[in-house]
Amino acid sequence: FPPEEAETIVRDIEWTVGRTGVVTPTAIMDPVQLAGTTVSRASLHNPDYLLAKDIRLGDTVTLHKAGDIIPEVGQVILPKRPATATEAYPIPAFCPACGQPLVHTADEVALRCINPFCPAQIQESVTHFASRDAMNIDGLGPKIVAQLLAKNLIHNVADLYKLTFDELTGLEKFGVTSANNLLEALANSKENSVERLLFGLGIRNVGAKAAKVIAAKYGDLTAIAAATADDIADLPGLGQTIGQSIEQYFAEAPTQALVREFQELGVNLKFISDGPVATDTVFSGKKVVLTGKLTMFSRKDASDWLERQGAIVSGSVSKKTDLLIAGADAGSKLTKAQELGVEIWSEAQFRDTMEA
Ligand SMILES: [Zn+2]
Repeated sequence: FPPEEAETIVRDIEWTVGRTGVVTPTAIMDPVQLAGTTVSRASLHNPDYLLAKDIRLGDTVTLHKAGDIIPEVGQVILPKRPATATEAYPIPAFCPACGQPLVHTADEVALRCINPFCPAQIQESVTHFASRDAMNIDGLGPKIVAQLLAKNLIHNVADLYKLTFDELTGLEKFGVTSANNLLEALANSKENSVERLLFGLGIRNVGAKAAKVIAAKYGDLTAIAAATADDIADLPGLGQTIGQSIEQYFAEAPTQALVREFQELGVNLKFISDGPVATDTVFSGKKVVLTGKLTMFSRKDASDWLERQGAIVSGSVSKKTDLLIAGADAGSKLTKAQELGVEIWSEAQFRDTMEA
C-alpha cells in the first residue's frame, strides 16, 4: 500500500487571487509520494488557518489526503523546525496581482482584494465564464484569456462576443483553425439556456445547481434581475444568502450595463427547458449519488440526465440513498455506501443503462 501520511518540507507560501478577490495561501513543498500520487502543493485556505497551524518556511510538516483526494497539511513537526524560522509567516498587506491594499474584515476569514479592476480577478472570472458548467466555450482556457487581457482585447465577459478573426489570429500560437473554432464555440454559447449565463457571471454563493433552480422559476434574466432577495430565498434548496447575493449583484450599475450588452450582442437570456421529467424509468423517484472521476461524461451532464429520468441527485450518501454511481478513485462516499448496503454501479454500468 502507498503511504497514507508523508512528511515533507515547506519551501514557500504562494498567494493567489480568485475571481471574487479572495486571496488564498498555498504551501509549496518538496515533492513527496502520498497515497499513490506525487504531491508538492497544498491549500492553506486562509490566513487564520495558516496562523493557527503556525507554518514557517523550512518547517517539516505531515501531509495526508482529505476525502482521499485533496492533499492537506496535518501539523508542523516542531522538533524539526530550523533555528532560522523564528517568526510567524507574514500575512500580505497588498494584492500580489494588482498591488492594492487587501481587506480582512472581522466578519469573514477571507483576505480580499476589493479592486474591481484587479487583473487576476478579471482573468479568473473570464475563465470561469467560459468553463464547462458555465458557458462551455471550448478553446477558451486560462492561457488564451491571459493573452486577450494582456492585449486589451477584452475588459469584461461581454467583450468576448466582439472578438474578430483578425484579433484572434494575432494571438501567439493561435492559427486559423483555432480562431475559427473559438468563434464558432462563442457563437454556439450565445444559444445556451440562461442558467449557464447566470452561473457564469460568478455571483457569490450562486452555484450551477442554484442557477438552474432560479432560471427555471423566473424564465429569463431580466425577471431574475427584478426579483427580490426574499422571493429567491423561498425557492427550494436556496435561502437568504443566495437571495441577497443575487439582489445585490443585479442592483449594481455595472451589472445592469453588462446585461444590456448581452442583449445587444444577441446572447440568449431565456431559460430553455430540457423537456419534461420522465416518471417511468428505472431512476424515477430514486435518490442517486455520483462520486469519483467520471471519464465518459461531465458530472453535470450525468446529473442533468439523471434528473430528466426522474432521479433526485444528491451530494451525500445516507440510509435514504438508493444508488451510488462510482467513477475512478471513488473514496469515502463509496466506503459509506458499502457500509450501508447501498446499490453501487460503475460508470460503465451507468453508460450501458443510458444507452439501453
Ligand atoms: Zn488585486
